[in-house]
Amino acid sequence: MYREKIYDEAIRRIKERRLSAQTQQEQRTDLIHAQIPETAELDRQLRSACMSVMRAARSSDPQAAIRQVEQQCNEADAMLRQILTAHGYPADYLDTHYTCTLCDDTGFTGGKPCECLKREIGRVGAEQMNARSQLSLCTFDSFSLRYYSNLPAEQYRMMERIYQQCRKYAEEFDPARSGNILMIGNTGLGKTHLSLSIADVVLQKGFSVIYDSAGSLLHQLEQEHFSKRSNEEDTLAMLLDCDLLILDDFGTEFDTNFSRSMIYTLFNSRINAGKPMIVNTNLDKNSLQGQYGSRILSRLFSACIMQFYGRDIRMQKSLLQNQNQEASL
Ligand SMILES: [Zn+2]
Repeated sequence: MYREKIYDEAIRRIKERRLSAQTQQEQRTDLIHAQIPETAELDRQLRSACMSVMRAARSSDPQAAIRQVEQQCNEADAMLRQILTAHGYPADYLDTHYTCTLCDDTGFTGGKPCECLKREIGRVGAEQMNARSQLSLCTFDSFSLRYYSNLPAEQYRMMERIYQQCRKYAEEFDPARSGNILMIGNTGLGKTHLSLSIADVVLQKGFSVIYDSAGSLLHQLEQEHFSKRSNEEDTLAMLLDCDLLILDDFGTEFDTNFSRSMIYTLFNSRINAGKPMIVNTNLDKNSLQGQYGSRILSRLFSACIMQFYGRDIRMQKSLLQNQNQEASL
């Protein structure tokens, strides 16, 4: 049911695109016909040439007749394009501009789902997941390195490098080539902010991103697993399918057999499929290994590991706020 709804919504959006492309084409045509009357006449010729194709097919030498009609069409089309450019319009101004040129916004090519439909299904699925986790996006521009300025020089440079690495990762994101990132460090050091900034850029590029805390995701999977109305396969499939999965607060979820096996499935399947993940944790490597064992984590540790330093930014911010309030009294 869940999956069907997502599919229906994706199809609806693609149909809407097609309709809007066609409506815009009609509007452009009306405008041009009114401005340049000879284009209306050419259009009429083009349409009647199409009709005569059917007559040509019934003639004594259909191939020659069809070739002749085709030539007439091409000439009228070339003339139309010439007139458009002569009036300062692009030559393809009266063509229908579909978003996807593979399927002309029908969602299917050769009877199979087009890439654009698959992408849209991923996007709708991710939106639904993110709506539940109340994803509020942070951006790279709202991230300030000044909260790290009181760190020893080497650690400050490390944070600067992490910021640049995250920016580069987001800008160059490619679901088939980007690697995994493991962010380690105490609460309030900017791990969530930077991973949401990555999500922001990657979503704008049109990829599907699912962001949630490990606890909340596992809770949902577990509820679905033990309820009669099982969506578990759908949720899991979406977690496995999305272009980028961001797992926040890893290690704070309840440690159960169910969560272990889910985490194992998730990590293993995504890593085997070469699909990128960003995993954030407040625990250090040893505590993580103690909780999940090296079998589950060994491959995660081959990710790019970013060690965060600093003092809790939320606390620094509220301290600053208090100081400002006192100063203004
Ligand atoms: Zn398409």
